[in-house]
Amino acid sequence: MKRPAVFLDRDGTINEQMGYINHLSRFVFLPGVTEAVRLLNQNNFLVIIVSNQSGVARGYFPIDLVHEVHAYLKASLKERGAIIDGIFFCPHHPRGVITEYGYTCDCRKPETGLIDMACESFDIDLSNSYVVGDRHIDIELAHRSNLDGIMVKTGYGLGEVEHILPQKSIKPIHVASDLLDAARWIVGRMKASNDGKA
Ligand SMILES: [Mg+2]
Ligand SMILES: [Zn+2]
Repeated sequence: MKRPAVFLDRDGTINEQMGYINHLSRFVFLPGVTEAVRLLNQNNFLVIIVSNQSGVARGYFPIDLVHEVHAYLKASLKERGAIIDGIFFCPHHPRGVITEYGYTCDCRKPETGLIDMACESFDIDLSNSYVVGDRHIDIELAHRSNLDGIMVKTGYGLGEVEHILPQKSIKPIHVASDLLDAARWIVGRMKASNDGKA
């Protein structure tokens, strides 16, 4: 049975935007994230994180640090009853100094590789899925993957909505104040559409 997914950006959407998260101590959850993830869990959405972590290719931190952060992220949420179904990240960058990761890949957002990977691991109903993020590249990713994109005003969001979004032809379907607001909007839209079918 296919399930819809909400693809979540990480930095600035789930945790505070602090530049590169090059140490676990820099990972700080934004308010309302637990409740947002729980709400999506309860409404049958897969919750999947898609994140660019080019700091690996740039040599700013090892890939193990990314795994450590993700283990902490998942465990902290799980303790509070919120389940992250999957995490996919891009460690690459075209100008990266770490040879193993320093190339032009097809998974650095807004390229769609991370979503393609998620679709290989999960049976996803893409027609009812979303991307939520604080940057326009997340909306571009949504567009390229034929999904609806929602921008949050946390992280870079407020500035991007004000200064970047007006120049772009590809727009989010909704601008939310934060992840919990986005999750409530998604669930409300799904319920309205189900009522329409009843
Ligand atoms: Mg972000
Ligand atoms: Zn990549």
